[in-house]
Amino acid sequence: MSQIQNIKDKVAARERIDRAEAQWLWHNASDEDLIEMAGSVRARYHAPDEATYLLMRIINYTNICVAKCDYCSFYRLPRAKDGYVRDKEWVFSKIDELIEVGGDLFGFNGGFNPQLKIDYYTDLFGSIRKKYGDKIEFYAMTVVELLYVARLCKLSTPEALALLKEAGVRWITGGGAEILADSFRLRHSPLKYTVAEYMETQRHILDAGLNTTGTMVIGFDETLDERLDHLETVRAFQDERLQAGKEGLFSFLCWTYKPYNNELGGKEISSAEYLRHLALCRIYLDNIKHLRASVLTQNQAALSGLRYGADDFDIPWEDEVTQMAGAVIEKDVDRVLGYARDAGFKTRYRHVAKTPTEACLARV
Ligand code: SF4
Repeated sequence: MSQIQNIKDKVAARERIDRAEAQWLWHNASDEDLIEMAGSVRARYHAPDEATYLLMRIINYTNICVAKCDYCSFYRLPRAKDGYVRDKEWVFSKIDELIEVGGDLFGFNGGFNPQLKIDYYTDLFGSIRKKYGDKIEFYAMTVVELLYVARLCKLSTPEALALLKEAGVRWITGGGAEILADSFRLRHSPLKYTVAEYMETQRHILDAGLNTTGTMVIGFDETLDERLDHLETVRAFQDERLQAGKEGLFSFLCWTYKPYNNELGGKEISSAEYLRHLALCRIYLDNIKHLRASVLTQNQAALSGLRYGADDFDIPWEDEVTQMAGAVIEKDVDRVLGYARDAGFKTRYRHVAKTPTEACLARV
C-alpha cells in the first residue's frame, strides 16, 4: 500500500501520525489529501459545515518593551519619544467602541514594560471587570508578558496569577510562543524565555484555574524541524494535561509573520503554504478541540482555512502590533462572513463571555 494511503487509513482509524509521517505529508501530500485528513480530524469535534467566529479587538495599552525581538515592528525602548502607556479612559473608550458594533472579546497586548508592575495590571483588569462585568470577556496578557511581570515583581508565577484572578482575570493567551524551538528563540528573541519556561507558565495558568490557548506564528526563517518541534511540544503538553484529568489548552491559533518595518525583514510566505500548515496542525494536534484561522494576517484566505481543518476564527477590529508589520484589517463583518459562506460553511457567533470553560471538552 502507498505511504499516503497508510497515513490516511491511520487518520481515519483515529490513530496518531508521528513526526516522520508529518514530515512526509508536508513534502509529499497534495492539498486534497491534507484537506481530507484534516476534515476527518475536524469532524471528531465539529459539524463538517459549521464554523464559529467572534468579533475581537486587540488593545495595545503600551508599546514600551525591552525584549527586543528582531521580528517585531511594534516595540519602542523606554524613553523613546513615541513610546506610550495609555490610561484607563482610553482603554474604556476602545472597549465601548467594539461593544457598539456588536463585539465582546478583547485581547490586551503590550510588551515587557519595566515601568508597569503587577499593581498596574490588577488595577486595569479589576477596573474593567468592575465596569463591564460579564458583558465582555478579555485575554488579559500573553504567557510571556505574565512571566515577565511576575519576575519583575519578584513573585512566583502562581502568586502573580492569584492576584490577577482576584482582580477578575479569567483568560491568558498563548501569545509569545511564535516557534517553540529554543534554536529559533535564540536566533530571534533570546529574552523571550525558553520553551521550558513558556510551557511551565502555561501549566501554572491552567493549575490556577484560568483558561489559556495555544498559538504559533510561521513564516520567519524557521525550519520544518522547528515547526514540528512546536507541534510535538504542544501535543505532548495537551496529552499530559488531559491524561491527568486536568484542563488543557482551549484552542490553537496559527498566524503568519508580517515582515515590514522591523529588523528581521524578509518575505511573506504564501497563503497556500499557510493553508497546508493549518491542515498539518489539525491532523497532528488531534487532542485540541478548536483550531483557529487567522483573518488578521490572512484575510480572505483564512476562511479557506475552514476547509483545511479550522473551525473557528475571529474578525479583528484592531491590532497595532500586526498592523505596523503590514497586516490589513478587514472591518466589513458581512463580507468576511460571506467568504466563510463561499467556502461552504454556516457561521455562528461564539460568545467567549458565556462559555468560559469549554476547554474540558477537548478530550478525544
Ligand atoms: S514581539 Fe512582543 S515581546 Fe517581542 S519586542 Fe515585540 S512587543 Fe516585545
